[in-house]
Amino acid sequence: MVERCYVPKSLEEALSIRKETGAHPLAGGSDLMVQYKQGLGITPVFPFPVMIISSLDDLKGIETLEDGSILIRALSTPAEIASFEGMPYPVRCAASRMGAVALRNTATIGGNLGNASPKGDLPQPLILLDATVVLKSQDGEREMKVDDFILGSKKTALADDEIIYAVRIPRVEYTHVYYRKIGTRRANAISKLSLSALARVEDGVVVDFRAASGAAGPKVIRSHETEDILKGHGVDEMDSLMPAVLEGWNNAISPHAMPEYRRATTRRMLEHFLSSIAAHQEGGIIE
Ligand SMILES: Cc1cc2nc3c(=O)[nH]c(=O)nc-3n(C[C@H](O)[C@H](O)[C@H](O)COP(=O)(O)OP(=O)(O)OC[C@H]3O[C@@H](n4cnc5c(N)ncnc54)[C@H](O)[C@@H]3O)c2cc1C
Repeated sequence: MVERCYVPKSLEEALSIRKETGAHPLAGGSDLMVQYKQGLGITPVFPFPVMIISSLDDLKGIETLEDGSILIRALSTPAEIASFEGMPYPVRCAASRMGAVALRNTATIGGNLGNASPKGDLPQPLILLDATVVLKSQDGEREMKVDDFILGSKKTALADDEIIYAVRIPRVEYTHVYYRKIGTRRANAISKLSLSALARVEDGVVVDFRAASGAAGPKVIRSHETEDILKGHGVDEMDSLMPAVLEGWNNAISPHAMPEYRRATTRRMLEHFLSSIAAHQEGGIIE
C-alpha cells in the first residue's frame, strides 16, 4: 500500500499534519530515500505517511543569539553549518567532513539528529558542547540536551506530534580543542570512529575538560565522571592523572564491532590530546 505524502506550506500546517496523521518529516531525504528505496529503482515506498518539509522557511537559517549561543534551524545543511562564522571548531570539522559535496548541500542537521545513527557525524560535537534541541508541536515548544534527545541507536525522544525546529549551541570557552574522524577517507566516508575534546586551562589549571566519542557505542559517549578527574588540577599533574582518565574513558565506551581496534585508537587519540595540553599550555587547535 502506498502511504500518503503531504507538502505543507508553513510550519503551522506541518505541525497540524504531524499531529493529525503522524506523517514523518522528509527533509534532505538522504537517509529516508535510501532506507526505503525499492531494489534498483530510485522511487522509495514508505510504510508510513511522509511530509516533505524542505521548503519551509521557518526551519531555515543559522544565527548568533544575544547570549552568544548559535541557533541552527533544522533544515541547515552541513555546507551552511561549516561556513557559518563563529561555528565552534569541532562542529565545523564534523560538518565539513560529512559525505561528498552533493550530500553536504542536501543533508540537514534535523535529519542527522532524527536518524540518530551511532555513526552520524553531527551529534558527537553537539553533545561535547552541551547543545540542545528545540522541538515544536501544536501544543508548544520544549528544549532538551541533544544527549538526552538521542536515546540510543536510531532511537530519539521525538514525540509523534513533534518536529525538530532547531539546535542551539551554547557559548563554550576553551583554550584547547581537538576533532578527529576516522573513516576510510578524510571525507565522503561514514565514520568508523570519532573523538572530539576540549579543555580550558587558566593559569596552569584545567578548569574545563570534555570529550565525546562517536561510533564507539550505541550513541555518542561522554563520561562526566572521567572528565571530573582533571578539573581543578594543574596541567603539571597531567602525567600522573592521565592513566585514570584513559582507564575511565575505556570503561565508558562500548564499541560493538572491532572492539580492540576502537578501544586502542580511542585511547591513542585521547592520550594525544591530553599530552598536548601539557605541551602547549598557551592553547590552540590540537592536530
Ligand atoms: C552517500 C551518503 C553518504 C553519507 N555520509 C554521511 C556522513 O559522512 N556522515 C553522516 O553523519 N551521515 C551521512 N549520511 C547519512 C545522511 O546523509 C545524514 O544522516 C543526513 O544528515 C540526514 O539528513 P536528511 O535531511 O537527508 O534526512 P532525512 O532522510 O530527510 O530524514 C532522516 C530522519 O530524520 C527525520 N527528520 C528529518 N528532519 C526532521 C525534522 N525537522 N524534525 C523531525 N524529524 C526529522 C526523518 O523523519 C527521518 O527519520 C550519508 C548518506 C548517504 C546517502
